[in-house]
Amino acid sequence: MKDLLLSIVIPLFNEEENIGPLYEELLQILPKLNVFSTYEIVFVNDGSKDTSLDIVKKLAHQNTHVKVLSFTRNFGHESATYAGIINATGDAVVLMDADRQDPPTLIFEFEKAYQEGIDIAYGQRTKRLQESWVKKCTSKMFYPLFKFITNIDMPRDVGDFCLLSRKAVDMIKQLPERALFVRGLIYWLGLPKRAIPFVRRERGAGTTKYNYRKLTIFALENIISFSTVPIYWLLFFSLGIITLCGGGIVVALIMRLCGYVVMSGWTSLMMCMLFLSATILFALSIIGLYIGKIFQEIKERPIFLVDEKINFN
Ligand code: UDP
Ligand code: MG
Repeated sequence: MKDLLLSIVIPLFNEEENIGPLYEELLQILPKLNVFSTYEIVFVNDGSKDTSLDIVKKLAHQNTHVKVLSFTRNFGHESATYAGIINATGDAVVLMDADRQDPPTLIFEFEKAYQEGIDIAYGQRTKRLQESWVKKCTSKMFYPLFKFITNIDMPRDVGDFCLLSRKAVDMIKQLPERALFVRGLIYWLGLPKRAIPFVRRERGAGTTKYNYRKLTIFALENIISFSTVPIYWLLFFSLGIITLCGGGIVVALIMRLCGYVVMSGWTSLMMCMLFLSATILFALSIIGLYIGKIFQEIKERPIFLVDEKINFN
């Protein structure tokens, strides 16, 4: 294995203070790699409103290894990551965030795994500096839940920081779906993978773009996109209620025939009615989420629009 090209894909949204330091760090690392003798850095500007685009454009003019893909507006982190993956030309592709939380030195470990024939080498967070305990707890709950519902062997405590072999990238490129959860798709492939533990650093500058509302919607969307198991849960739950209510009616009828009055007053009636209407509303909203996903897919709208492409031949 010699003279291979490594692509670094970096989605960014308002990261003007982080781009320069991250680029400097990468320039220290990339020439020291063994099998990857050349590199390209693909910055995907996801509709930044600060000077991020000007900064990456300047870097691209100084260094032809730097490529820029700029969207017309903000399409979201997943779309930006996906756009970077499908436009990368390397023999392997590293995905990393622009905010400097992912330490570039881990690329050495990714390279070692790649040399040993691993298709997916991923950073596994042993510690997350600066993140709130609510975020740490919800993320701890999300991974087992996602695995339980979807049956996809997605490891715990992973982000998008990973290396994908060309084989993995080409497989991802073949998938036709628009509802993207890149992390889920990567592990859905079922290719050989290896965890590389690391400490997730603090953000270089700025704040996270994911608030709790966004994170909750993100988690729900991903589960809905990957699995129909929640609909089966609803089915079994409603079957349980029907059996329970049916049994209750039979018992009440028999007792009535024997001369007993089983239920009196409206409290029990109201409780049953409220419980059942809440269950129906819950079931309807889950089904609505699935219909929403179908709606998004059948529209076949592109998931991003490119305004500018620099240094792509
Ligand atoms: N990002 C993006 N588009 C968005 C939101 C975020 O490209 O709409 C980028 C962001 O610039 C960063 C990465 O995605 O490089 C991860 O975002 P962030 O650090 O806010 O997420 P967190 O690390 O808090 O999960
Ligand atoms: Mg971050």
